[in-house]
Amino acid sequence: MDERLNNAPCGYISITQQGYITKVNQTFLDWMEYDSADLLTKHIESIMSTANKLVFHSYFYPNINLHGHVEELFIRLKHKSGETVPYLLNGRRFDQAGVEMIDCILVQMRKRIEYEQELRSAKKQIEDAYWENDRALEKLKDIHQEIETKQTELLRMNAVLVELSNTDKLTGLRNRRFMQEKLEELIAGFTPTGDAFSLLILDIDHFKKINDTYGHQTGDRVLEQLADILKANAGVKDIACRYGGEEFVVILPGTNALESKITAENLRRTIASSIWETGCVTVSIGIATCTPADSAESILKNADRALYASKESGRNRVTHSRDGKL
Ligand code: GH3
Ligand code: MG
Ligand code: MG
Repeated sequence: MDERLNNAPCGYISITQQGYITKVNQTFLDWMEYDSADLLTKHIESIMSTANKLVFHSYFYPNINLHGHVEELFIRLKHKSGETVPYLLNGRRFDQAGVEMIDCILVQMRKRIEYEQELRSAKKQIEDAYWENDRALEKLKDIHQEIETKQTELLRMNAVLVELSNTDKLTGLRNRRFMQEKLEELIAGFTPTGDAFSLLILDIDHFKKINDTYGHQTGDRVLEQLADILKANAGVKDIACRYGGEEFVVILPGTNALESKITAENLRRTIASSIWETGCVTVSIGIATCTPADSAESILKNADRALYASKESGRNRVTHSRDGKL
């Protein structure tokens, strides 16, 4: 064999039409660590796996027979150690003194395959990183969602707590604390030219006697029923509260002295004519209507004075702090 072909930077094998090796160059022998005796006169398929033999039969021979050549056939050939080495094979048929031979040039694919594997592994790493990233984002979204849910729950609980802190437990009416706040607000926003507002204090007459005669629990039910009457009769803007014990306050925004007396009188009459488990229940009512000179304290004091007058003059009646000599 020509010296340059023997040591060319590619493998060279020449086979007969039947596939028997007639020539093999030194480069291929060195790559595969064979001696020439290992391969010469052997069938080329002796260094192929079963799968590769199939490829060879179904692709190599038909193409050689049909076109006289085969290009870039990917094939794995057995190394002396048993390991398989990937090759790219080009084959060409030619006639040598009436005998058909096939020359094959083999280029190792090992490096390219390694590069491909590296590329695949890098691609997989990127995909994994994206996947991790997506998962982290999903997790972050879940955490955000959880925080939002908790915040909403917290706001709801806060609202419930605020509601509870403003509510009288027994009657469900607004409590004294809430009333005090609203009164301060109304006083702060009060102007002489603006809307008047009035305040009623209701006190159950002889309530002690109800407790003493029917018991404390019955007394509680009377308080609840009275609260229900106040709720049912309060206007949208009115604020009905339990002031303490058997005393109630109703704030009437936008209500002048005359209107407040009518409202109070209606309430008194409704209460007195309601059906109670203890017989008749009546209330005495004191009213005050805000003036520019008033504070929350003074308006309550005026209403309380009027209430006292209602009690003094026989109970079950309404008195405005501006009535008569008051
Ligand atoms: P007056 O007509 O002068 O208002 O007489 P009264 O008996 O209503 O007034 P008094 O202030 O002497 O009595 C009020 C009673 O209300 C005394 C107290 O035991 C009772 N009381 C206060 N809070 C409650 C409560 O939550 N439930 C019950 N059942 N009784 C209460
Ligand atoms: Mg009282
Ligand atoms: Mg009383």
